[in-house]
Amino acid sequence: MSFKLENRRPTVIAGPCSAENIEQVFATARELQSNENLKYFRAGLWKPRTRPNSFEGVGAEGIVWLSEVQKELGMSVMTEVANAEHAELALKHSIDAVWIGARTTVSPFSVQNIADALKGTSMPVMVKNPMHADLGLWLGAIERFAASTSGEVAALHRGFSNFTQHKYRNAPMWELPIGLKSELPDVSLFCDPSHICGNTELLSLVSQKAMDLGMDGLMLETHTKPHEALSDASQQITPEDLQKLIAGLEIRSSLKDSTSDRDLSALRIKMDSIDEQLMELLSGRMEIAKLMGEFKKEEGLTVLHLERWREILRTRMKWSNELGLSEEFILRVLEQVHKESIKVQTDVMNQDS
Ligand code: PEP
Ligand code: MN
Repeated sequence: MSFKLENRRPTVIAGPCSAENIEQVFATARELQSNENLKYFRAGLWKPRTRPNSFEGVGAEGIVWLSEVQKELGMSVMTEVANAEHAELALKHSIDAVWIGARTTVSPFSVQNIADALKGTSMPVMVKNPMHADLGLWLGAIERFAASTSGEVAALHRGFSNFTQHKYRNAPMWELPIGLKSELPDVSLFCDPSHICGNTELLSLVSQKAMDLGMDGLMLETHTKPHEALSDASQQITPEDLQKLIAGLEIRSSLKDSTSDRDLSALRIKMDSIDEQLMELLSGRMEIAKLMGEFKKEEGLTVLHLERWREILRTRMKWSNELGLSEEFILRVLEQVHKESIKVQTDVMNQDS
C-alpha cells in the first residue's frame, strides 16, 4: 500500500496525538471519515514524553481500539512504534502502517532493533526526522527500514529541537527536507506541521510551505476537543478545522520538482529559513543586551566599553574571515548590531527602576 493518495494532494494523516479512550478514538475517527484527503487515521499509544509524570499513553490496550476503527469504519490506521515489542504488536494486530518518532530516529540501535522486528514483512514505515538537524541519521534510518520491510518507506519532516528559536516548537529548517529529497528523490516526503508549530496559529502557513516545496502530504494532530487532550493540547485542531485548513491550501502542480536544489523556489525557501534563523538569533542577542543593561545599571557601570568593542571587532572579523565573508560587509553589519545593542542598553539604563 502506498502512503500517497493517487489523484489528490496533500495526502493527509490525521488523528489525535494520543489515543485516550475508545470513545475519543471513535469520535475523532468518525469525524475524519468523510475527509477526502485522509489516507490514514493516526493515534499514539506509547508516548515518548520529555519529562516523567506526564501522560505516557494507554499502551497496548489502545491497539485494539485502532483495529476496531479499521474494521468498523474501514479506515487505514497508523501508530508510532518505539521498540521491537511495539512493532511486533503492530504486526500482530494488522496495523496498516507505523511511524518512527523523532526520539527513536536519533538512535541507530533502536532503529535497527525495530527494523529487525519488521524484517521480511511488508509493513509500510514513515520515518520522522531525528530531534536534531542531522541529515545522515535521517537517511540512515530510512536505509535500515528499506532493507528490512518490502513495504513503502517514507520520510516525515517534524522540525528540529532548537535552543535559540522560539517561534516554532521545533525549527522547520526547510533546508533539511530539501536535502533529503535531493538525496532520495523517489522517497515520499510528508510534513508534520503540528510538531513543528506547537500551536494552531502557524499550522496553515507551515502546511502551505510544505505544499510549495512539493511535499506529498501532511500529518496533522486532530482531536474532537483539543483543549481537553491529554498530550499536545495546544497544537491539535478539530476535524472541522482540519477540513478548512486543507481547503485553504493553494496547490501548485508546476512546482512538482521544487525540492530539487536547482529550483529557484527551493532556493528561496532555504533562504527564507536561514533569514528566519538570523532574525531569531538577532532577537536573542538583543535580549542579552537588555540583561547586560540591567546588570550595568545595578553595578553603576557605563554602557560603552571601548576595550570590549575592540575585542568584538577582532574576534568577529577573524571568524568571518575564516568563513570567507568580506571584511567590509561584516564591519558594516557589526557596527549596526553594536549600535542597536547600545541603544537597547541605554533604554534599560534610562528606565525608572
Ligand atoms: C507524535 O507524533 O505524537 C510524536 C510524539 O512526535 P515526534 O516524534 O515528532 O515528537
Ligand atoms: Mn504529539
